[in-house]
Amino acid sequence: MLNNKNGIIFGVANKRSIAWATALALHEAGAKLAFTYQGDRLKENVEELTNEAMPGSLLLSCDVSKQDEVDEAFRHIGEKFGRLDFLIHSIAFAPREALGGEYLNTSREAFLTALEISAYSLPQLARAAAPLMTEGGSIVSMSYYGAEKVVAGYNVMGVAKAALEASTRYLAKDLGPRNIRINAISAGPIQTLSARGVSDFSTMLKHHAERAPLGRNVEPREVGQTAVFLCSSMSSGITGEVIYVDCGYNIMGI
Ligand code: NAD
Repeated sequence: MLNNKNGIIFGVANKRSIAWATALALHEAGAKLAFTYQGDRLKENVEELTNEAMPGSLLLSCDVSKQDEVDEAFRHIGEKFGRLDFLIHSIAFAPREALGGEYLNTSREAFLTALEISAYSLPQLARAAAPLMTEGGSIVSMSYYGAEKVVAGYNVMGVAKAALEASTRYLAKDLGPRNIRINAISAGPIQTLSARGVSDFSTMLKHHAERAPLGRNVEPREVGQTAVFLCSSMSSGITGEVIYVDCGYNIMGI
């Protein structure tokens, strides 16, 4: 489905990362992938994973809070790939103390950090990718239900996801004339490194599985497969949307 397509993936930290499950699904669909990692601390993990599953992948250092690293990563991509067809944004961060207790107490610093890394990075990366998407393209980011409804403990990250989802719509309007589509996947809770930062995450997992029409939690692989769909021409008429991959949890009332 994605033969001859080139993509870049932001957000692999380890084998549990949603970005990694997404990479595996995209690779299986025939895409050629480049990966970024946030600093040397995570380089080894990404190297180890890609050496085994897709040797020879292009790996680039990129902390989105450093504009020179973003510029450098896309310069490399331009050199190595020429054309870019899709980008996966699977990045979020908020200081741990802001992911619990009352949102009321969120510090200015935690708010700005969460919004910068988790939301501003979407227009930032879209702006850098767009000139390389010369034959159109697809950008996919990862959101969560806490953007829309209050989820205890998710706090400032819910506010950042709301900004991410609104950005998806504004960017869809800007990028549509270049045939670049942009959508967000709103994934149900998945046990990852980032998820460990959210207080009482195991209660969240249990609650979702009990309430969701499918009676279980979503598998990372299912999020990856939806990303394949969104990066392929099968979804050519879809942009600016938030697509729930949550076993139906979000549709439930009483
Ligand atoms: P993860 O910890 O595996 O991935 C988060 C990634 O963000 C890491 O690779 C980390 O390096 C990267 N990152 C953080 N700060 C960065 C920076 N300054 N520059 C570049 N990269 C940076 O966790 P995950 O759960 O796979 O998260 C991926 C995405 O999925 C996030 O946007 C997250 O909010 C979203 N999401 C997660 C869940 C869940 O339950 N795990 C549910 C819905 C959405």
